[in-house]
Amino acid sequence: MKNVPRLTSEPIGLQNFRKEQENADRQRDSADLWKAFRDTSAYKELQEALLDIQGGLCGYCERQIGHKKFKADRCIEHVAAKKDNRDRTLDWNNLMICCNGGTLDSHPEPLARHTVKRNHSCDKKKDRQKIPIECDPREFPCEWSTSVVSFTIDGRMRPNEQTCRELGIDPKVLVGVIENTLNLNCERLRQARQQLWDEIDQANDNLDQDYAEQKDTEGEIFFIERLLQDHLDRNDDGNLLEFWSVHRQSVEYYILRLPELKNHLTI
Ligand SMILES: [Zn+2]
Repeated sequence: MKNVPRLTSEPIGLQNFRKEQENADRQRDSADLWKAFRDTSAYKELQEALLDIQGGLCGYCERQIGHKKFKADRCIEHVAAKKDNRDRTLDWNNLMICCNGGTLDSHPEPLARHTVKRNHSCDKKKDRQKIPIECDPREFPCEWSTSVVSFTIDGRMRPNEQTCRELGIDPKVLVGVIENTLNLNCERLRQARQQLWDEIDQANDNLDQDYAEQKDTEGEIFFIERLLQDHLDRNDDGNLLEFWSVHRQSVEYYILRLPELKNHLTI
């Protein structure tokens, strides 16, 4: 779970649709209202805006859903469930792009292709459950020194206790959100993150050697900057790497040497 940036303004199509509904004679319930909105071109506009600001990552599990091959694996999530908050159904401050939580059996990535319930995560697992405000990823800071979660070598996500204390988050509450509300340590996601760690470890064997060869400050800065670009910056499509927080942790050792480069974390 990384910081999820919010939209900076309400997309115009959503605004028009919302105003039409406010002026309508009959008030639809939240499910009907959302269904009607999904049939408009404004839905696609909103989806694109959210994908763009989130770098194509699911707001909860950080799977990459920005590329068009993952089109079927996207949904717009109401952070405060629309079933219990009708007046927030079209509230652009309540929306986030999310994956389908492992329910897509035709997913192009094998490790995302699960349909058993114990492997459901994100919006599909959360449903009407509430996320405490301090555990809402849109409230997390994006500064390097305030990483809210970290990962074990076998791909499990856990709260970063020191950061939690600094931010006033009870680590036990965050564990509940990770494990129960969102199921972010389900086997499907754990395995995918473990596989990524293995790939990063292999790449890092060469990296440590390259780093040791940097003989002067200029070489060191160039090396670390390139490393941070590779792991943390947006690619040409504007997307971030899948499981971005794992990548962030993998380069921590280097960025701590040059904290002035932490602008790569403000994305
Ligand atoms: Zn997800």
